[in-house]
Amino acid sequence: MRILHTYKETFADGPGIRYAIYVAGCDLACNGCHNPSSWPYDQGELLTDSVLERIRSEIISNPMLTGITISGGDPLDPKNATDTLFLLQGLEDLGKHIMLYTGRIAEQLIHSPVPEAQKTCLQYVDVLVEGPFVLGQRDTTTFRGSKNQQFVKTKEMYLKGCLYANKIHEYVINKL
Ligand code: SF4
Repeated sequence: MRILHTYKETFADGPGIRYAIYVAGCDLACNGCHNPSSWPYDQGELLTDSVLERIRSEIISNPMLTGITISGGDPLDPKNATDTLFLLQGLEDLGKHIMLYTGRIAEQLIHSPVPEAQKTCLQYVDVLVEGPFVLGQRDTTTFRGSKNQQFVKTKEMYLKGCLYANKIHEYVINKL
């Protein structure tokens, strides 16, 4: 997977002051996508051990950061999910609140036969912002693109042993 951009501080990608990582590649082609230039997989910087170490250092050096946001592109695109899992596991010990934006639908990630890495990533994500962008439901008042997209506390589901149970609705929050 390749990294399109990192931002050392942002207020636009979730609550608080966050470090943002934008990955390259998405195969969903949502009508009205905010960032179609992120769709190709072959742009940006390859995610390597040294790039991960640089990201970690930048996060550790800023005590003001409250969280980390991973967006794109789509980090849970089937072509990206294995490397996104590597990224999530490499950041876990920093103890930051993790948000991840995906155009995939949480219900399908959990209950459909998708690659294992796509499912496993959910264990590391405090708030998953899930679902494709729907132009007719655009929402500019929250940290999501359209009203169909849900905020799901997938890590909490995992920790309570019900990530794969049919309980997503109990872990959906209305706003951040
Ligand atoms: S999932 Fe996100 S990046 Fe992919 S097409 Fe939809 S809005 Fe664009």
